Amino acid sequence: MQTQAISETNYAIVAAATAANGCNCVPYEEVKTFKRWQKAGRQVQKGQTSYIRTTSFPEVKVTDPKTGKERVKSCPRCCVLFCKCQTKEIANDAAD
Ligand SMILES: [Zn+2]
Repeated sequence: MQTQAISETNYAIVAAATAANGCNCVPYEEVKTFKRWQKAGRQVQKGQTSYIRTTSFPEVKVTDPKTGKERVKSCPRCCVLFCKCQTKEIANDAAD
């Protein structure tokens, strides 16, 4: 399992979103990105749209074009998440 740093702010956003949706999905255990659900053996059902969006700030190294020096910059990245009730199990015949 890949671990991911999760801010408490994002956790609160996800918890508020699932509560507003009226489900009890647990943030980060039952709320994942499309790709993470696929890795977990579940497929987001057709017609489902994400109602949970968070922003993460991963740090990336960039080279300053003026000075040529490397520096660390944090870029906002939008995360689109789906909760477990929006997914269903993938049939086992879809092995790769
Ligand atoms: Zn849910």
